[in-house]
Amino acid sequence: MSLKLIFLGPPGAGKGTQADIISRKVSIPRIAPGDLFRKAVAEHTELGKLVQSYIDSGKLVPDEITINLMRDKLSSPEAKRGFILDGFPRNLVQAEALDRLLKELGIKLDAAIYIGVPFDRLVERSAGRRVCKQCGAAYHVKFKPPRVANVCDLCGGELYQRDDDRPETVRRRLEVYEENTRPLVDYYSRQGLLKRIDGDQPVDKVFSDIQEALGLNNNDQH
Ligand code: ADP
Ligand code: AMP
Repeated sequence: MSLKLIFLGPPGAGKGTQADIISRKVSIPRIAPGDLFRKAVAEHTELGKLVQSYIDSGKLVPDEITINLMRDKLSSPEAKRGFILDGFPRNLVQAEALDRLLKELGIKLDAAIYIGVPFDRLVERSAGRRVCKQCGAAYHVKFKPPRVANVCDLCGGELYQRDDDRPETVRRRLEVYEENTRPLVDYYSRQGLLKRIDGDQPVDKVFSDIQEALGLNNNDQH
């Protein structure tokens, strides 16, 4: 199954959680610039040094850096069989750059999945988020606790709390979303690609709604 998807929605909506489930189910890579930037910061690479201050303050990393990173990822052999873009594009400049890049590569998107969650739930979701250091899987202290405290159910990696999940940085990220990213909902709606999903439901229900919107059935595991 070769799916090419974008996940849209505010920080904490559940994009990573859902993208991860689909990516494992249909064996396509989840490409998440946020994860790639955090890895670069942890490994003290040149990219990490460039992006750290933006991530720490909840601002968007400059478009040129982000677009170059995504060009590399989308041109790589792993993306040939499909992909889920989780957290890209995040503004109109990035969306237009993505359109050009996909055209060059001869790729057509299947859908832009928009996960909507009421604003007042988002701070709680991010504040309780815990992430696996090894595989990036997301947990929540209340809504999705791991089976063993601080240990990833999937790979046994150690869980940690993101620095930018502190309430004041979360609020800043929500403002950045409203100003820069929300307009993309209209952008993809005009392209006829938008699928709106109610993210204010249990993880399994959100997932089955996404499957239904994409016309996937339970046996699609190619
Ligand atoms: P995003 O990638 O959109 O920022 P995540 O997938 O990391 O969001 O989810 C944010 C937090 O909310 C995580 O702690 C995750 O476990 C939790 N979460 C995700 N989906 C749901 C849901 N449907 N109900 C309750 N909590 C959820
Ligand atoms: P995320 O993991 O998606 O919540 O992203 C964490 C942080 O990484 C964001 O607050 C930004 O600083 C940066 N980031 C992630 N995706 C992008 C993007 N498409 N454009 C610019 N910055 C991004």
